[in-house]
Amino acid sequence: MKLNLNIQPLNTWINKEGKQPLLIAGPCSAETEDQLVATAHLLAKTGKVTALRAGIWKPRTRPGEFEGIGSIGLEWLKRAKAETGLPTAVEVATAKHVEEALAAGVDILWVGARSTANPFTVQEIADALKGVDVPVMVKNPVNPDLSLWVGALERINNAGITKLAAIHRGFSSYEKSAFRNEPMWDVAISLKTLVPELPIINDPSHITGNRDLIAYISQKAIDLDMQGLMIESHIDPTVAWTDAKQQVTPAALTDIINNLTLRKPETRNTEINDKLGELRNQIDKIDDLLIQKLAERMQIVEKIGNYKKDNNLTILQVNRWDEILHKRIGYAKALKLGAEFTEKFLELVHNESIRKQTEIMNAEAGQVEEKLTHA
Ligand code: PEP
Ligand code: MN
Repeated sequence: MKLNLNIQPLNTWINKEGKQPLLIAGPCSAETEDQLVATAHLLAKTGKVTALRAGIWKPRTRPGEFEGIGSIGLEWLKRAKAETGLPTAVEVATAKHVEEALAAGVDILWVGARSTANPFTVQEIADALKGVDVPVMVKNPVNPDLSLWVGALERINNAGITKLAAIHRGFSSYEKSAFRNEPMWDVAISLKTLVPELPIINDPSHITGNRDLIAYISQKAIDLDMQGLMIESHIDPTVAWTDAKQQVTPAALTDIINNLTLRKPETRNTEINDKLGELRNQIDKIDDLLIQKLAERMQIVEKIGNYKKDNNLTILQVNRWDEILHKRIGYAKALKLGAEFTEKFLELVHNESIRKQTEIMNAEAGQVEEKLTHA
C-alpha cells in the first residue's frame, strides 16, 4: 500500500551545501544565552552542521524538572542564527508555540514524540500551521504505532505543509535494554515503504540515551538510507540541564560524522548496476521458490487439519512443535543462519499453520481468528 502525501523533496527546503549527511545539531535545551550562542559557534565551525536545534519548551515526563527556558530562548536563537548563519529548529507542542516560533523567524519546526502520540495536540498544531509555508518534522510517537505516526504526518500535510520530514527517535519499551528508546527499525522501514518520498531523519541521541552509542546508531541509520541525523550537542554536556548523558561536544560530534561510512543507495556506474541487477534476479528467483514452497507446505497443513478433524485430535501437539523447532534450528545453524531468525521464521510459519487448521476444525472459531488478525 502507498500513501498519498504531497511532499517537496528535502533539497528544496534545506540547503546542505554539499555536507553529508544532513545534520541537525544543537543542545537538547536552550539554557542560557551564552550556552546556546557559544554552542552554535562551535557547531558552525565544524562545517558539518546544516541546522541548529534547541528545545525552548521541554515536554518533561515528571513535573518539577526543567521545563524549558521559554520564549526568551527564541531571542537567543535569533542571535545564534544571525552570528553563525545556521537555520534554526525548535519543538512546538501548542498553537502558541507555533505562532511564537514563526514570529521569531525559526526556520524549521518539529513535533515531539509525546505530541505525536496525541491527535488533539497534532491537530491543534496543524490548524496553527494553515496558510504557512514552513518545514515541519514529525517525530515518531512514544509508542510503536505506525498509524499514529502516519496520522500526524497526514494532519500536518492536510494543513498545507509540504516541506515535511519524519524523525525516527525510537520507542518506549517496558523491557530494559542498552537503549533509552528501542529503535524498532522495522517501524521506520514500514513508514518508508508506505511513503517512499518522505525523508526520514534519525535521532540517535534519543534512541540511545547514551553518547557512547550514538556513532553506532548513526551508522546503522545511514546504512538504512535515512536522509539525515539529528544529534544533541552541547558545549559542556556533563553539566547540561536536560539529557546530559546523551549530548556530545561539537568536537565529539565532528568525530562521529567523520567516522561514518557514507553509502550511495543507487549508483550511475553501470558495471555495479549490472552486477547488482544480476544478484537481485537471483534473490527474486529464490523468493519465488520460497513462496511456492510455503504454499505447498500450507496445502499439506490443510490435509493434516482435515485428518485431525476426522479423528478428533488436538491441533497443537507440543512435542511435534518442539521437534520441528530443534531439528530445524540445528540444521539452520549448520547452514550459518542465525538461531533467532530461524526461530522467529518457524514460529511465524507455525502460527499460520495453526490458524489454517483452526479454520478447518471449527469454521466459527476460524472466523473469529480471522477477524482478530485483520482488526
Ligand atoms: C528533544 O528532541 O529534545 C525531545 C524532547 O525529543 P523527543 O520528543 O524525541 O522525546
Ligand atoms: Mn533531549
